[in-house]
Amino acid sequence: MEKYFGKRPTILDSCQELEAHNAEENLMENDDINESEIKADPDLRKPIAEYGVNIWDRIRREYVAKGPCQPKDNIFQKTRQGKDNRSFRDAWYKDYDWLEYSEAKHAAYCFYCFLFKRGYVAPGDEAFTSCGFSNWKKILEKFKAHVGDKSSAHNKARIEYENFVNQRQSVAYVVSRGMTTKEKEYRIRLTATVDVVRFLLIQGLPFRGHDESSTSLNKCNFLELLEWYGLRNDEVGKVILKNAPGNNQMTSPSVQKDMANACAVETTELGDRHFSILVDESRD
Ligand SMILES: [Zn+2]
Repeated sequence: MEKYFGKRPTILDSCQELEAHNAEENLMENDDINESEIKADPDLRKPIAEYGVNIWDRIRREYVAKGPCQPKDNIFQKTRQGKDNRSFRDAWYKDYDWLEYSEAKHAAYCFYCFLFKRGYVAPGDEAFTSCGFSNWKKILEKFKAHVGDKSSAHNKARIEYENFVNQRQSVAYVVSRGMTTKEKEYRIRLTATVDVVRFLLIQGLPFRGHDESSTSLNKCNFLELLEWYGLRNDEVGKVILKNAPGNNQMTSPSVQKDMANACAVETTELGDRHFSILVDESRD
């Protein structure tokens, strides 16, 4: 089996999908931005342009991770408009994924325009981004007017939003723009974990045991070997197991399986069935 594991960089490449997913999670924990700055309610947010230009993308990342503010099952405030009492309706979210509602101001906002609007905005349209929109009469026509044609400010913002989200999923992008401390720690954790997975696969050893709790004296090959690695390598020890973020320890059975499957991509002759058996097999 050893011959299949000679090209370590290729095996790491195979983990790209997992890495992209976890890198995204790590980025959301970025400690350079004060969490309290990121407001769910669109009326309470500080405009992106008021931050230093070097952190615009990090602020956007936080908001993209949160998604648009779309409270539901809410009693939206009714106001007399024309002959009728009117209010916002959460059913509108279905057709307008950019639509946000501020409970603080009882007004509608546009998520894409908040994140990426720049330069000229058509007169009357700034309500969706700066002060909020709350005249619900003929609102669907107003939504349509806000979206506008292909070259509208809204559609330009939407395209920027989509590019931003796609770019965020690219590992090459994460690497090229330089890594944060959390990303570096993540990479060390990932590499150490892949090393352990490779070793167990090469030796044909089962991964899991009956008692994998942290106090168990004999957890399983996977956890024991990872712990041993951390005890002998400070750089690794500082970022794995109890020193890893709670949601990113990379020790769950599903992560072990993902890693083994990623290695199996390289070993087409065996396929991943064999690895699944190894991962699932307990000590006995
Ligand atoms: Zn918009």
